[in-house]
Amino acid sequence: MKRPEHPLSILIATLTTSARGLTAVRQLTELQKQVPTLYGLLSVNAGALAVTHYGLAPAVLTLGIPGAVIALCLVRAVHWLRLRPETLSEAQAARHLRRTTVLTVFFSVAFVIWAMVLNRFGGPYEQGHVAIFVAVTVIACIFCLTHLPVAAFLVTGIVMGVFLFCCVTSGNNVFLAIAVNTAFVTAVMVRILNTNYRAFVDLVASQAMASELSEENARLAQTDSLTGLPNRRYFFQQLDAAIRSPSDADPPFALAIFDLDRFKPINDTYGHNVGDRVLAEAGRRLAGFASAEVVVTRLGGDEFGVLLRAPDSAAAALTVCDGICTALQQPIWIGDIQVVTGCSGGLALPCRITHDADALFDRADYALYHSKEQRRGATTLFSQEHKDAIRAEQAVETALRTADLAAEMGLHYQPILDTATGRIALVEGLARWTNPSLGSVPPDRFIAAAERCGMIHTVTLLLLRKALADCAQLPPGTGLSFNLSAHDLASPETVLAILAAVQGSGLDPRRLTLELTETALMRDFDHAKAAITTLRSLGIKIALDDFGTGYSSLGYVHRLPLDKIKIDRSFIADIETDRGRSLVSTILDLCRNLGLDGIVEGIETQAQLDVVRRHGSRYVQGYHIGRPMPLADLLRRLERDAVAVRRRA
Ligand code: C2E
Ligand code: CA
Ligand code: CA
Repeated sequence: MKRPEHPLSILIATLTTSARGLTAVRQLTELQKQVPTLYGLLSVNAGALAVTHYGLAPAVLTLGIPGAVIALCLVRAVHWLRLRPETLSEAQAARHLRRTTVLTVFFSVAFVIWAMVLNRFGGPYEQGHVAIFVAVTVIACIFCLTHLPVAAFLVTGIVMGVFLFCCVTSGNNVFLAIAVNTAFVTAVMVRILNTNYRAFVDLVASQAMASELSEENARLAQTDSLTGLPNRRYFFQQLDAAIRSPSDADPPFALAIFDLDRFKPINDTYGHNVGDRVLAEAGRRLAGFASAEVVVTRLGGDEFGVLLRAPDSAAAALTVCDGICTALQQPIWIGDIQVVTGCSGGLALPCRITHDADALFDRADYALYHSKEQRRGATTLFSQEHKDAIRAEQAVETALRTADLAAEMGLHYQPILDTATGRIALVEGLARWTNPSLGSVPPDRFIAAAERCGMIHTVTLLLLRKALADCAQLPPGTGLSFNLSAHDLASPETVLAILAAVQGSGLDPRRLTLELTETALMRDFDHAKAAITTLRSLGIKIALDDFGTGYSSLGYVHRLPLDKIKIDRSFIADIETDRGRSLVSTILDLCRNLGLDGIVEGIETQAQLDVVRRHGSRYVQGYHIGRPMPLADLLRRLERDAVAVRRRA
């Protein structure tokens, strides 16, 4: 059986309760609900006892002492009623509790001695009243002091000690019986008090634990587990708060988004484990920029969000952002693997019309996209120029949705020369769109717009069907090269529709080459690989377009079943330098070694053509060979070429 606890151990427990979650302030709050009642009760009881002894005992005992003690009780009651525990510090509340305990001793001694002295006056009724006064008052004290057990024990000990002593020494058996009864009842009450108090302490402790847990849960819900940085949810909370809080600073805050360059190829090449460690290191470096003014978060994937509070100026915010890009561009060592990821950023400042977190985020995202496209490794500040570009893009999207695409869109064809035979081996179909209100829209703009507004499937198939139909007019030895969008390969429906269109056209699939860019492959490598395998099984050839402009072209050349590589025209611009020449000849060697056809794009001069031919390039394309032209012009050109070849023969 569990032994009842010694009051001393309860006293110690009381003194240490704050460690278990019970603060002195909380104890005082609970006590405040009972103590004024207790003082009221004491005053009424003492008043009643004084009244029954009035005239029987000296006035000092029935008026003087009770009057003084009752006045003191009332003063204390008022003091307790006016107390506001929540405004007190822990130390102040603890001092208050100690003072209450001391006063309890004082009142206990005063009341019990006064009652025992009064007991000497009056007859049996009055003496009975004294016994009732003592018993009832002690029980009331025990109840009202539940939340200050030390005081309750002291009251019980002092009052019952003196009462028992007086009763035992009085030699009156009735009083002795009353004293023993009362002592027994108070002992039971103390036990109940003890149990209740412990339950109260446990409740407070579990409340404290629950609140700690919910704080921890809230913290975890706002933390990214991989990097330990706050997460997207936290970022948007802070962004909302920054937007809502009025500020005189100009700008009041700045929002930046960073995205690692080349992260996807690192993940694809070295696996997710290395990818995760790269992200964790990137997070660690970013955390070095965090401060009260700079909130650093991971938004997801390889994207990080930074909120700069009250930067001195847009230029100051840009400086911080460029520092972040530079820090993330330093090599990262994962075991013996060294990886170098770049980092680009987009920055947006709030203005009157962007008092909306999503709109502001979109602006920073747009600026980031701009960095990725044109200024890798740096941070771009969203500007008026970007606003105009967005408006223009939206105009293209709107026109795409409403246009009669079948009537307005068509293709021009650019010849690709086989230098070994001197004949046009194939023609590349290039999309053209002339809209009544926008005029002629460049293909890279409307293809991107169609991708954004989910119309690329329609546009690709419309153009492919037209190209396949046009191809029927070409000489049988001339092939067709057609560009696919980055989105096409990722969509199984589009791939199936492409296969159906090719089969339905009656064209020999071996005459068709589909050109893919690295971005198309990067979007979803596994889907892209499966789609390429299906297309090749039909005899369709696959060319990797714009080779050398991405970061991982070589990786794809190795891992994909390709037929051709189109060397981007940016290499040709440098062809007259030693470095440019050796780059092109290295890529051509690579093509030969892998058994792939290399096509050099962007040949604009005879000198360039001579150089690439010297380096063994068989297939060439560019303005010098022929500009993209309508089908009718192409047919005339092919006819002219055929006549020339016949003449030479
Ligand atoms: P691309 O596939 O790299 O196409 C070659 C682009 O280079 C064409 O621009 C062409 O006119 C241009 N070009 C050819 N030779 C020379 C040269 O010697 N010098 C210079 N400076 N440029 C030359 P275009 O027609 O404006 O097409 C731009 C891009 O739009 C294409 O780049 C391609 O990515 C995309 N595109 C065009 N048609 C389609 C299409 O039907 N579908 C898809 N998905 N994308 C298309
Ligand atoms: Ca192309
Ligand atoms: Ca190209």
